[in-house]
Amino acid sequence: MAGVVAAGWVLAACGPAVPAPSPAPSPDVTGTSGEAHVTAPLVTAAPVTTSVDLVWPDLHAVEGEPVITGFRSSVAPVDAARLTSSWRPGCPVPVSDLRSVTVTHWTFEGTEATGELVLHAEVADSAVAVFAALYDQGFPIRSMRLVDEFGGSDDASMAADNTSAFNCRPVAGGTGWSEHAYGRAVDLNPRENPYLRGTVVLPPEGAPYADRPQEPGVVQDAQVAAFAAQGWRWGGAWSSPVDLQHFSTTGR
Ligand SMILES: [Zn+2]
Repeated sequence: MAGVVAAGWVLAACGPAVPAPSPAPSPDVTGTSGEAHVTAPLVTAAPVTTSVDLVWPDLHAVEGEPVITGFRSSVAPVDAARLTSSWRPGCPVPVSDLRSVTVTHWTFEGTEATGELVLHAEVADSAVAVFAALYDQGFPIRSMRLVDEFGGSDDASMAADNTSAFNCRPVAGGTGWSEHAYGRAVDLNPRENPYLRGTVVLPPEGAPYADRPQEPGVVQDAQVAAFAAQGWRWGGAWSSPVDLQHFSTTGR
């Protein structure tokens, strides 16, 4: 299949440049004869109109252009069986108040991926709107998987540069529930946007990003504005800790 594609591509690319060997009354006729040379070998070489159909996807691959689907999202009830590490009896919200939210996002490789967050039902739609805006901005996100895939460990999730939301856990460095325990907070690209408290940097791999360099995946004013437009506030505006990865609808 690749051979057919390459031949088709070369012939098509060279067609217009081939001088007409026969008397050519007009440039239009020259173009027509060029087309005939291209299509004839394709028809005789393979029993196929279907192989012609396969030419376009392959050309995209050859040119290194990923197929773009555009932003998509879904909001659905979440099965408690999936929250084996992040939820337990005694958590401040019942599973029935939580939603599985999927969104399309850009990767650091310039391709699209589908990520999943667990969020409180009350903030699910606004979160979708935020991630639609981040998609429009071309903002890359490393990973977006449930913390349950990391055993519910915030440290492990952060070390994997994983963007996450719901996790029934105490607030970092304090007592009481984190806003994540209510599904009202999102941590975005934690490596590129670390949590800073004194000399503590979490995750430790985020140290090079503590001063918010202009690099992919680092939250800048445009991303803060995308969240703010939907009523989400940024932990990077706090004095201590400075939680660059953290956005919440309550400002906590
Ligand atoms: Zn957070």
